[in-house]
Amino acid sequence: MSDHPVLRYVSAGAWSLVEPLFSQRAKDLLIKLIDFMEIDVLPSEKLFHAQIPTHPPEARWASIPPILETLRDKAKKLGLWNLWLSGGDFQGMAGGQGGGLSNLEYAVMAEIMGHSAILAPQATNCSAPDTGNMEVLARYGTSEQKEKYLVPLLKGEIRSSFSMTEYGVASSDATNLRNTTALPSSSGKTLSVKGHKWWITGAGDPRNVIHIVLAVTDPKNPSPHKRHSLVLVDPRAKDVKIVRPLTVFGYDDAPEGHCEVVYDGVEVDVDGGVVGGKAGLGRGFEIIQARLGPGRLHHCMRSIGIASRALDILLQRVSDPNRKTFGKYLKEHGTVLADIAHSRAEIDAARLLVLAAARRIDIGGAKGAMQDIGIAKFTVPSMALKVIDRAMQVHGAEGVSEDTPLAYYYASLRTLRYADGPDEVHIQQIGKNELKRVERLRSRIERIKKESDKLLNEHGKVKARL
Ligand SMILES: Cc1cc2nc3c(=O)[nH]c(=O)nc-3n(C[C@H](O)[C@H](O)[C@H](O)COP(=O)(O)OP(=O)(O)OC[C@H]3O[C@@H](n4cnc5c(N)ncnc54)[C@H](O)[C@@H]3O)c2cc1C
Repeated sequence: MSDHPVLRYVSAGAWSLVEPLFSQRAKDLLIKLIDFMEIDVLPSEKLFHAQIPTHPPEARWASIPPILETLRDKAKKLGLWNLWLSGGDFQGMAGGQGGGLSNLEYAVMAEIMGHSAILAPQATNCSAPDTGNMEVLARYGTSEQKEKYLVPLLKGEIRSSFSMTEYGVASSDATNLRNTTALPSSSGKTLSVKGHKWWITGAGDPRNVIHIVLAVTDPKNPSPHKRHSLVLVDPRAKDVKIVRPLTVFGYDDAPEGHCEVVYDGVEVDVDGGVVGGKAGLGRGFEIIQARLGPGRLHHCMRSIGIASRALDILLQRVSDPNRKTFGKYLKEHGTVLADIAHSRAEIDAARLLVLAAARRIDIGGAKGAMQDIGIAKFTVPSMALKVIDRAMQVHGAEGVSEDTPLAYYYASLRTLRYADGPDEVHIQQIGKNELKRVERLRSRIERIKKESDKLLNEHGKVKARL
């Protein structure tokens, strides 16, 4: 146990809790994944970035770094493919293509992949938004939609986007979404998709052939939760305009990107173009809820890996023998030691939350785990940001430059406090859930108080200090 390679990544305490729940197959895959990370992925990071052209700007969106393809081929051969695709019913729905792990097993592997958050998930076909989109297609797609989109996504031949957030609309409350419609076209035979979205991840990618678009299909439905459907739009259609790639603190995340997109009357037919065909009309809300559960947790799993990598970088910097300030090495200053200790403790605590949420999904499905997923969703990215911030601080000005990956980590992680719903929305929900306990709490406390008064009486006491 003491020299298991997983202990380079997760705490011995966490591993002792999860190891008994790991199958032999998962243990074997874990070792393979760690080797793949250390021999192939981590050494390829710099080359990956160097292979993304800088000039002309359009070239950034025109090709995929060849090293990524090399890594993907190797991951496939090693069986490190679609690891996110959990077992059980879902595996069957997706045609049994790889994965087959429990969410708990995947949580440990996703954290390890988080150490190279940009490269490892893509290399193993485990990256957002494709994973969530594959889940939608597997659970709700018609057999033709699965054949056309799910199978090539599972094989890693195409990429996809999930298109929900609307330009000029407060989209964190999804009932507000109204500027994108898919209403009958003049012929009455098709739906015409019109709307203006933004922050659509992956929309710049040359491999992208499918946007899953949340659009109003039944504007007069009395229930705001039944007005929308998910429609499938090919971004290569002439009526789709990729207006611009947006940047996060200056980073464009090419070649995938996060883009502003206009759908200007793209025609789709109901059977092929609405997720689930006719039966999928009006079910947009129901489907996005199912999509966002495990996907939110996958982000948290990887975030812990990013925070751990930041702590590793911090440790190396403060141990640099060439850096002394005020007569001491950085690692000898009390505040630095405190930063290290807090970072260690916060990462290890956050991991336990994520593992608990993953286990709850395994036991009761994503619906049964919403409370645990919600808590992880609003605590883990903030925890990781704090750790990265400490790592940047010990680097002095270099910490905010592009000479270390820390500034990029910070920018990426900061967006997770919005993506898949801002923190406040999850905080509000968890707060409301807690308040639901009050009635039962009151009756329990009342019962204990009665027993306590009775005991005092029996012992002839009228008042106690507590
Ligand atoms: C890098 C990146 C990638 C993204 N990728 C995608 C994608 O692929 N597809 C997609 O559809 N969208 C994507 N998004 C968009 C993201 O999902 C939205 O930004 C998010 O849902 C919030 O919507 P909004 O920006 O319209 O904020 P608004 O709805 O305008 O909310 C603004 C702020 O209001 C506050 N707020 C909201 N509700 C409450 C509340 N209940 N209590 C207190 N305060 C509240 C919060 O502080 C919130 O941040 C991405 C965003 C980023 C940054």
